[in-house]
Amino acid sequence: MSADAFERTPQNTVKRIPDRGHYDKETIYQILDAAFLCHVAFVDEGKPFIIPTLYARDEDSILLHGATTSRMLKHAQTGQPLTIAVTHVDGLVLARSVFHHSINYRSAVIFGCGTLVADPAEKMRALELFTEKLLPGRWADARAPHANELKATSVIAVAMDAASAKIRAWGPKDDDEDMELPVWAGVLPVRPMFGEPIASDDLIAGIGVPDYIPAHVATQNHKA
Ligand SMILES: Cc1cc2nc3c(=O)[nH]c(=O)nc-3n(C[C@H](O)[C@H](O)[C@H](O)COP(=O)(O)OP(=O)(O)OC[C@H]3O[C@@H](n4cnc5c(N)ncnc54)[C@H](O)[C@@H]3O)c2cc1C
Repeated sequence: MSADAFERTPQNTVKRIPDRGHYDKETIYQILDAAFLCHVAFVDEGKPFIIPTLYARDEDSILLHGATTSRMLKHAQTGQPLTIAVTHVDGLVLARSVFHHSINYRSAVIFGCGTLVADPAEKMRALELFTEKLLPGRWADARAPHANELKATSVIAVAMDAASAKIRAWGPKDDDEDMELPVWAGVLPVRPMFGEPIASDDLIAGIGVPDYIPAHVATQNHKA
C-alpha cells in the first residue's frame, strides 16, 4: 500500500465496470467522512452476518462502538476479518430503456481486522469522535459518559488493510437505436436532508435549540 492509495488485490478490485473503481485514500476517505452509517459484515460460527451501525474514521482506522454484549463488537475484537460498506445514493438514473436504468452513487468497501480500544483516554477520545461526527458541538454540550457507561460500551478500531470505492455520477447511457424514443430520460437527484429540530416533550423550560444545530443543518443541507 502506498501512502496515498490502497494496493489493488483480487479481493478489493472492482471487476464490473472497472473504471468506476477508485483506490486512492482521498476519494475513499471523502466517502467515509460524508456518512455516519455503515454495514459491518463478518462470519461468526460459520454463518454470515451483516449489521448496520454508526462509525467514525480515525486516520487509517474505522471506529465502531456499542454495547459490550453485541455480537458484532464481541466478534470484531477477536481480530478476525471484517468487511465494512458505506453507501451514498445520489440519484436515480432514468434511461429510455429499462435495461439502462441505474443509480448514481458513491460507495466504499473496507477490509480490516479489529482490536479493542482498552485505554480509557483513547476510548474517551473515540467516543468524542463519534459524537462530533454525528453533530459537531454536541460533545462539549451533552453530559460526558460515567464510568459505568464506559464499562458497558466497547470501542473497536478496525485498521483499514484494503479498500475500494466505486462511483457513478453521470446521466443515462442509452443504446444508439433508442435515442429517438419519446421517453423522458435523465437523473432524479436523491439528497439526504435534516429537518426542523423537535424538542423533547419533557425538556425543562427555557432550553432553546443550541446554535450548533442550525449551523450544522445549514452546512449539511446546503451541501445536499
Ligand atoms: C446504491 C448501489 C446500487 C447498486 N445496484 C446494483 C444492482 O442493482 N445490480 C448490480 O449488479 N450492481 C449494483 N451495484 C454495484 C455493486 O455494488 C457491485 O459493484 C456489482 O455487483 C459488481 O461487482 P463486481 O462483480 O465487479 O465485483 P465483486 O467481485 O462483487 O467485488 C470485488 C471487489 O470490488 C469492490 N467493489 C465492488 N462493488 C463495489 C462498490 N459498489 N463500492 C466499492 N467497492 C466495490 C470490493 O472491494 C469488492 O470486494 C450497486 C451499487 C450501489 C452503490
